[in-house]
Amino acid sequence: MTARPRRPGQHVCPIGPCTTQVADRLLMCGPHWAKVPVPVQRDVYAAYRGGAGLGSDELLAAQVAAIRSVYRALGLAEEV
Ligand SMILES: [Zn+2]
Repeated sequence: MTARPRRPGQHVCPIGPCTTQVADRLLMCGPHWAKVPVPVQRDVYAAYRGGAGLGSDELLAAQVAAIRSVYRALGLAEEV
């Protein structure tokens, strides 16, 4: 695990080299989220359930799928 800079209520975009700070209610920065296929985005929103799904296995699985899809789209080695 590498330490990444962090501000309260924000985290760094989880996509490899990206250093964009994003609000905790968002998974990743806008440009990277735009690369997530729409059905996968829907899965994330569905599992998030307006915040009620935070910490659930369902949300974690959807988030990992979304992050992996961006890694594939960018041709990056997977880190998740
Ligand atoms: Zn990003």
